[in-house]
Order: sequence, then C-alpha cells, then structure tokens
Amino acid sequence: MSTESNHPVPVPPTRLRTSFFMDYPVGLFNGRFAREMRDNGRLLGIVCRHCGFSLLPPQAVCTVCHGENFEDPNWVEMGPEATVAGFMTFNMPYIDSNDLSVKKGSSTVGQLMVDSPGKTTGFLWHFIGEVEAGKLRNGMRVRAVFRPKEERQGLMTDILYWCPVDSDHPTQGD
Ligand SMILES: [Zn+2]
Repeated sequence: MSTESNHPVPVPPTRLRTSFFMDYPVGLFNGRFAREMRDNGRLLGIVCRHCGFSLLPPQAVCTVCHGENFEDPNWVEMGPEATVAGFMTFNMPYIDSNDLSVKKGSSTVGQLMVDSPGKTTGFLWHFIGEVEAGKLRNGMRVRAVFRPKEERQGLMTDILYWCPVDSDHPTQGD
C-alpha cells in the first residue's frame, strides 16, 4: 500500500521570523585589543615569541609557526601608520559584519601593512579615505583616523578609515 496521497493537500506558506541575539566573550586577547581601540585609540598586537611574526589583531596561536603565546604574550603597539600593500574600490552595498546593517556607496578598501616592532608588519584590511582612488598607490603611507572617543565601541569601526600621512587632517579622535 502506498503512503502517498492521491490528493495532496497544499501546504500553506509559512513566514518565520526569528529574533536572534548572541553575546559571546571575545576572549582575553581580542578583549584587550578592543578595549585599547575604544579607550586609548591605539592598535595593540602581539609579536610571536617563537618566530617574531606580528599578529594583528592579536591571537594566542601564531598564524605562521603555530607557536602558542598564552603565557607572557609580547604585547606591542602597532601603527598608527601603515603602508598600503594593495587596494580596491567597490560600488555595491555590503553587509557590515559588526551590526549586520547594509552599507551603501562607494568605498575603497586597502590591504595595510601596519607598522610593528616585530619582524613583520601587522596586516589589516580596512577603509582608506580622504584620497581619490585614482591617486592611491601601493607603498603609500597612511595613518589611522579613529572616531571621537565618545563614539568608540571597541569595534574595528572605531577606526573610520586610514588617510594619507601627508594629509593635513586630524588623525586622532582624542
Ligand atoms: Zn610564530
């Protein structure tokens, strides 16, 4: 005997809305990294004690040598200047991963080699501003422009963008 009905009954469409909230600790290292951006407007990373590679944002296990930096991590200030290693401009909406809002407009994003006392620079992707994309060059020096202190939240968006070092605009929020 077949279990299939000869007279299938349509299933009514279902509209499902689920509110989804999630709080999670960012961890010892990223917590300090976020607080330093929010409270002091500076980038704090780790230089791996095993290989000297710069880890920005900081992480306990090194990307390069997989050495652990849990005990006595070598915290260092990185930036506020960096060298542009590559960049692209995109003209499409994107979802801001910090708050899931949709951002529109044209943005230039750069791969930045952030100054560090380690053997290597730190690496970040971030926005580049105050310069026309046509005037951007690899090797250009840029500086982090932080939001005013009262607007910072401990997110990567505490840095508004990076601007050319020779710009005469203010570069720190406080
Ligand atoms: Zn390492």
